[in-house]
Amino acid sequence: MSTDTDGQQERTAYVIVGGGLAAAKAVEGIRETDSDGEIVLVTEEDRLPYERPPLSKAVLKGEDEMETAYTHDRDWYSEQKVELRLGTPATSLDAEKHALTLADGGSLSYDKLLIATGSSARALDVPGANLDGVLYLREMQESEALKARFTDGARIVVVGAGWIGLEVAAAAREAGCSVTVIEPQAAPLLGVMGEQVGGWFADLHRGHGVEFRFGEGVERLEGETSVTGVVTKSGDTVPADAVVVGVGITPNTGLAEGAGIGTANGITTDEALRTSAEGVWAAGDVASWRSTALDTHVRVEHWANANDGGLAAGRSMAGQDVTYDPIPFFFSDQYDIGLEYAGYVPRGSDAEVVLRGEPSSNEFMAFWVVPEGDGVRVLAGMHVNVWDTIDDVQRLVRDRAVVDRDRLADPKVPLGDLT
Ligand SMILES: Cc1cc2nc3c(=O)[nH]c(=O)nc-3n(C[C@H](O)[C@H](O)[C@H](O)COP(=O)(O)OP(=O)(O)OC[C@H]3O[C@@H](n4cnc5c(N)ncnc54)[C@H](O)[C@@H]3O)c2cc1C
Repeated sequence: MSTDTDGQQERTAYVIVGGGLAAAKAVEGIRETDSDGEIVLVTEEDRLPYERPPLSKAVLKGEDEMETAYTHDRDWYSEQKVELRLGTPATSLDAEKHALTLADGGSLSYDKLLIATGSSARALDVPGANLDGVLYLREMQESEALKARFTDGARIVVVGAGWIGLEVAAAAREAGCSVTVIEPQAAPLLGVMGEQVGGWFADLHRGHGVEFRFGEGVERLEGETSVTGVVTKSGDTVPADAVVVGVGITPNTGLAEGAGIGTANGITTDEALRTSAEGVWAAGDVASWRSTALDTHVRVEHWANANDGGLAAGRSMAGQDVTYDPIPFFFSDQYDIGLEYAGYVPRGSDAEVVLRGEPSSNEFMAFWVVPEGDGVRVLAGMHVNVWDTIDDVQRLVRDRAVVDRDRLADPKVPLGDLT
């Protein structure tokens, strides 16, 4: 706490570490109830906090300017009396002393600290991975670099058929590039979607001219200074003008680990996003929060969780009584497809997929279910171009609804009538 010049009023010292959506929304959450507290926002990137989804969609395709990705403009932070420390990584945290050390040699003391350090792209660890033209997509300048490479006729090889890989493949095709996607598994997004729905994604992209190499890995990348090709595990060489690596992300838990804060696949928090250290919260990609709705800890690497979790953490830090308990949600856009997914299917679950509608029409829903009683319980659901359905999906998941399998599969039965 700090004291005003008149020596009367105590002000809370908040420090937010991170420059993504969770960090920006935490400011909003704090200011809902605490208009006086000192807020310092410390971020490694030399930019205002921004949102990442446009980097693989409208911004990458040149439909929107990069500026549209900023959560707020600079004036907003001034109005909110936030001190911005851009381009200033935090290097260590002493949770006992409530002190954060910065790379510029400075340090900050805090009453309440938020760790919203997000995730970093996982690196491709093969010979040639440092060649020019081997690119990732996490930060703004990486989106700019990709956009510059996506010229008509350019040969783009995408490593990994996850969300980033698929969205990048779509943007590259729309820019007129030839695109090959290399993926060790048998279908895109296999771990999340399963074979059937993953197969639909493969068909969608093939229909737009993407070539897939499934069941294939990268042995090495070729080139003198710039990459010219990808040598696969099976010995083929795929020519490339640029290679985009999308092989997953890892949460940036280093600060928390160094401070002895509990982590397990992310920074462990309770349902108010409080970590194991007094006065320290975590939110966004980096947090594994206690979900009462799902009765487990959940870490989610998606926009809605950074948005809602950041806001909830800010509120919680400022003293509001918070239970952060969303049903995980995400969206994606590829070509003329928009999709939304809600729910949670634990890794390794034997959930089955129930389809509602015909995937080849590109308007359908998919549900991940487990047998229960006379019917099935919905763990998660997704729509592809069937809008205004996701609230019903979230309700089914939250209510742990047991529904009739045939009625779930029947598009003529309104989702609201299933229970
Ligand atoms: C290209 C792309 C497209 C995406 N598209 C979608 C989508 O369509 N739908 C969807 O639901 N989700 C999407 N996501 C995921 C979504 O953007 C993330 O879940 C979200 O960005 C997480 O926000 P965050 O604030 O937790 O972390 P981040 O956005 O990762 O921000 C963390 C910030 O903390 C900074 N930082 C890290 N360590 C330190 C440190 N020690 N000191 C100071 N600062 C530090 C980082 O530099 C960064 O600025 C996409 C992500 C990417 C990269």
